[in-house]
Amino acid sequence: MTPAMSDQPTSDPLRQSAQFLKGVGPARFELLRRLGLETIEDLLLHFPRSYENLSDVRPVARLEAGLVQTVRGEIVEIEGKHLPDGRTMVSVVLSDEGQCVEGVWFNQPYAARRFRFGQKVAFSGKVTWYRDHWQIANPRVQPLDSAAAAPAPGLLPVYPLTEELRQDQLRPIIRQAVEQFASQVVDILPAEQRGVHRLPDSVQALRDIHLPTTLAAAEAGRRRFVYEDFLVLQIGLALRRRELRDRQQAPQLRVTPKVDAHIRRLFPFRLTADQDRVIADICRDLASDRPMQRLLQADVGAGKTAVAVYALLVAVANKHQTILMAPTEVLAQQHWWTLNRYLAGSRVRRLLLTGSLGSRARRDALAGLRSGEVDLVVGTQALLQEGVEFARLGLVVIDEQHKFGVNQRARLRRLGVDPHYLVMTATPIPRTVALTVFGDLDVSIIRELPPGRQPVRTRWVPAGQRQRTYLKLREGLSQGRQAFVVCPLVTESVHLDVRAAEQTFEELRSGPFQDYRVGLIHGELDDAAKDAVMEQFRRHELDLLVSTTVVEVGVDVPNATVMVIEHAERFGLSQLHQLRGRVSRGPLPGECYLFAEPGSDEARERLRVFTRTNDGFTLAEKDAELRGLGEFFGTRQHGLGELRFADVWKDREILTLARRDAHALVAADAGLQRPEHALLRQRVLERYGRTLDLAEVG
Ligand code: ADP
Ligand code: MG
Repeated sequence: MTPAMSDQPTSDPLRQSAQFLKGVGPARFELLRRLGLETIEDLLLHFPRSYENLSDVRPVARLEAGLVQTVRGEIVEIEGKHLPDGRTMVSVVLSDEGQCVEGVWFNQPYAARRFRFGQKVAFSGKVTWYRDHWQIANPRVQPLDSAAAAPAPGLLPVYPLTEELRQDQLRPIIRQAVEQFASQVVDILPAEQRGVHRLPDSVQALRDIHLPTTLAAAEAGRRRFVYEDFLVLQIGLALRRRELRDRQQAPQLRVTPKVDAHIRRLFPFRLTADQDRVIADICRDLASDRPMQRLLQADVGAGKTAVAVYALLVAVANKHQTILMAPTEVLAQQHWWTLNRYLAGSRVRRLLLTGSLGSRARRDALAGLRSGEVDLVVGTQALLQEGVEFARLGLVVIDEQHKFGVNQRARLRRLGVDPHYLVMTATPIPRTVALTVFGDLDVSIIRELPPGRQPVRTRWVPAGQRQRTYLKLREGLSQGRQAFVVCPLVTESVHLDVRAAEQTFEELRSGPFQDYRVGLIHGELDDAAKDAVMEQFRRHELDLLVSTTVVEVGVDVPNATVMVIEHAERFGLSQLHQLRGRVSRGPLPGECYLFAEPGSDEARERLRVFTRTNDGFTLAEKDAELRGLGEFFGTRQHGLGELRFADVWKDREILTLARRDAHALVAADAGLQRPEHALLRQRVLERYGRTLDLAEVG
């Protein structure tokens, strides 16, 4: 391409309209547009979701039920029938050396017309054994005796479609695009990386994806684009991270042995080896003049809060202010109690700042922060409102980051200071995934639970044994234990779900638990009311607490050791695990009962897994396998847009490679200035130029 041409994007053949292809008139183009396919390039990058395998050709004698296979033979019977249920059925029987296979079509009376006796054809499709013979429903048919018959295709791509557009219409269009234009696609991957990972170049990859000769070739082609997806994203993240680091100056917060000993004395226990390791990570970060950007992941109850307290006190010991931020008022309150317990004998000047604070109290609090009189503040997002200023903010700790969006994080950065930044989450996701989802953060993980922790015994209660479970619950309550009954969010309407929880509450209170003190907490209560109920429960003025999922995160009532989860099939594994974590806070073994009516094998499998393991990481991985990562871990969280081909979970091995390569690449050539990186640089700018300040790149 000449330089003059490259200034005119319309001259790029790949950007031409799909209408340029034969067989794409205005009506068909409209359908393609609905799929987001407007240009030749869009068509090339519209990948099959699977393949129909027509390469497994067998004699009837060697057919196997359940597999897609192809059989050849001669037509010996053509018949149309009316079935008792009102449907019509066309049956066409092929004979192959005296053995038969039947092709059937339902409610397609015209299907019979395309066949004649004695004709030689091939049927392809999933073969089943029906009563006493082999059968294929809706087989794909290829005539064999016509001279014009195309050679039997081996693998047919199956594309994502829209209504009114069929596979056999889209296939030739994409095939044409590949045959005419794939060779013009320029490969942006540096040859070095492609060589190391043995990835095909983009031209070969596109051919293998759309017109594969083997499934292995198709998969290799897909891997190449997955790798590209991840590499571009990871370079974007690496650059953003560099930019943050280079631009910001953070206070250097140091830990002397004296400070360390002083902090440790505040804990009524010895920190675990995992906690110590994470604290070492954090101390190294805090001592640097680059702001810490660290994610701390640990299962519920693994002792994150203790680690956070350590970090907060390091900041205070260095005469800096610090924030501990929670996603809800209930949790802010909870952290406040915890802190006060640890800091009972200390002179750390602290306050609780939440949305429900009166305006006078709020004004005083803000004044304290501005003047530097307050060392440590615990609060909710209200903290981030305008007018909050700090004299010397050194460290921000955020609990449950996934409830905080990218925007709030940006806002924190705009408070006029460059604090260190520690994010905690009890959602155990595999490290590689975390690195992508949380993008520019470093990750520390606590896997070990504090000593003496007992696993929660979890039972899936068979239908009809509800009353027996209530009986056991009553026994527990009589022995002075407390229990949760959790009702899921089911409908689109929070209001309706709250009504359902209220109904459960009424039933339990007036029925099986009429001799006990039963409370109700849900998302429609205002914060003060929620706090009041939680406080009653904490003080053991309630025996049983019916709740919607507002208790999901962090609430700590050690005496509550029993949990019932209604409609457990509606929760994901990670969410169930979070809930269950509420009843493993103390020395008594927790118990969890699941009431569930699983409607699918997947839901049944999920519940089975859940009753068998208490390890949050194992469960998170299983969840990802069963349900995908879902919107909760949506890649959108990193603020850099969607991945086009890659699946963060399924392709995590490629992700690891791409991430390593991206870091090495950016370390060696931060501006992506080398000629072999020019195309990559252009792509990164196209995708992320707006969210990145790529001054050093652009
Ligand atoms: P998380 O915030 O990860 O859910 P917490 O820090 O709240 O966990 O700790 C859960 C419980 O375990 C708390 O009651 C806490 O006092 C206790 N705990 C934390 N670390 C230890 C430890 N090293 N040894 C014993 N108990 C601990
Ligand atoms: Mg916690």
